[in-house]
Amino acid sequence: MAALRAEMQLLPAASARAGQLRDQMRYLVNQARDLRAEIDSLRSLCPNLRQLEQAHQDALQQVRNLENQMLAPGISRARQAAIRNSQDMRNGRAAVAQTQRQLRAAYNEIDRLAPAMYRDAAIRFRSTYTGGPYPAGRFGRGGELWSSSAAYRSGQVRAERIFRQAARKAGLDLKSLVDEIVYVPGASSPFFAVRNGRVIVGLNDLAVFGRDPSLKLIKALHEIYHAQVHRMGGDAVVFSQYSSPLRRGYAEEIFVESQARQALRDVLSLRALRNSIEYENYFRRKLNLPEIPLP
Ligand SMILES: [Zn+2]
Repeated sequence: MAALRAEMQLLPAASARAGQLRDQMRYLVNQARDLRAEIDSLRSLCPNLRQLEQAHQDALQQVRNLENQMLAPGISRARQAAIRNSQDMRNGRAAVAQTQRQLRAAYNEIDRLAPAMYRDAAIRFRSTYTGGPYPAGRFGRGGELWSSSAAYRSGQVRAERIFRQAARKAGLDLKSLVDEIVYVPGASSPFFAVRNGRVIVGLNDLAVFGRDPSLKLIKALHEIYHAQVHRMGGDAVVFSQYSSPLRRGYAEEIFVESQARQALRDVLSLRALRNSIEYENYFRRKLNLPEIPLP
């Protein structure tokens, strides 16, 4: 009985320790994922692969040009046949077939070298984000840009890192709030979106490659807090004191910006701090709330 009681007393400490270990492990898993993505970016910079991809594109283009000539309006059947059977067309098709074989071999080699990493990136992170006119799967990990552009991959990896750092600084569990992080270079601003029930946050190129690291963090954290409001039931629940959706939107902006600023107060540059207060004041004026003095 006494032994049992002694063991019971150890329980809280043991579960706290387990929590610590879990946090540590989660951190290490994130680090490993970061590293894998970096390696992926570097490997695809491999000049051989890029040359092959380029050669393949060139060959395809050559064939397409000839095909376009064949399909031109008013062209005679005889001329069509001449182009189809021309040496240029035969050379072009042979080049496409050859570069395709070489590319497949190169991709197989990459798959052989790092199967877990490649499949991870391509399947687990396939994006559902449909930024404006773009189809789902264009942005994010495993998307069209991820597989075709090293510059995009670098931006995506950076965006993910910024979101993780921001969440860590605020003591938030990013995984429980956000399903998907996407880098959308041309987006007009960082954003929060829900698509097919998936919670998505994103950064644009200005936010990812800007010079002020604290500005990046606060932009990311702002969007993470939007995701938190969403998880809490959305603005209709959290800001139910306002009957107008527009005013609830203003209240949410004030809430998420001030939360983000509080969480990052120790790291914000003066510029980032002023930016944030000006942003919040804009919405405070709309709700006739007192403005915050600028430092
Ligand atoms: Zn916002």
